[in-house]
Amino acid sequence: MILMNKDKQEKRVYIIDSTAIMHFFPNDKIVNEDSYLIIPDILRSEIKSFQAKAVLEVMDADKRLVYTSPSEHSLMTVKEKAKSSGDISSLSKTDIHVVATALDFPGSYVISDDNAVQNLCSFLGIKVETFSFKIKTRRTYFWKCIGCSNTFKEKIELCPECGNKLKRFYKKKKIKS
Ligand SMILES: [Zn+2]
Repeated sequence: MILMNKDKQEKRVYIIDSTAIMHFFPNDKIVNEDSYLIIPDILRSEIKSFQAKAVLEVMDADKRLVYTSPSEHSLMTVKEKAKSSGDISSLSKTDIHVVATALDFPGSYVISDDNAVQNLCSFLGIKVETFSFKIKTRRTYFWKCIGCSNTFKEKIELCPECGNKLKRFYKKKKIKS
């Protein structure tokens, strides 16, 4: 799906996550810009508070709000990348849908203040806009046993070697801005 305006020029597309809904108003640039705002269906169904619903009404006032669900292919891609970066244990199903929706709209921006969402976007080459918190390094997480120091790529509860607990660590790389 390509969203175009009357001048056949592509409009900016923003994918909104749950942290972004509550911080929507202060961002004049996005409020005033002629852009499309996309909310994954799964997030829409989670919105219960009066305040958040009011934000959605304002977003939809000029009919630029779009609800959609990500493709299965994008969901798979995002889940696989989240496993390899180690973000998967920090992400909700909704977070996964937000990032997968961004993959369905090449060139789109994810709006999120969430650390894990931003980290995953950085691995997938997805641009991010934030309201208050922006990560500066990209992290690949791993888990290390506090007993025998064995390391694991994925989160597990107890070390299969010695039964001790695991702690999360990460390798980091600076993000070029
Ligand atoms: Zn161990």
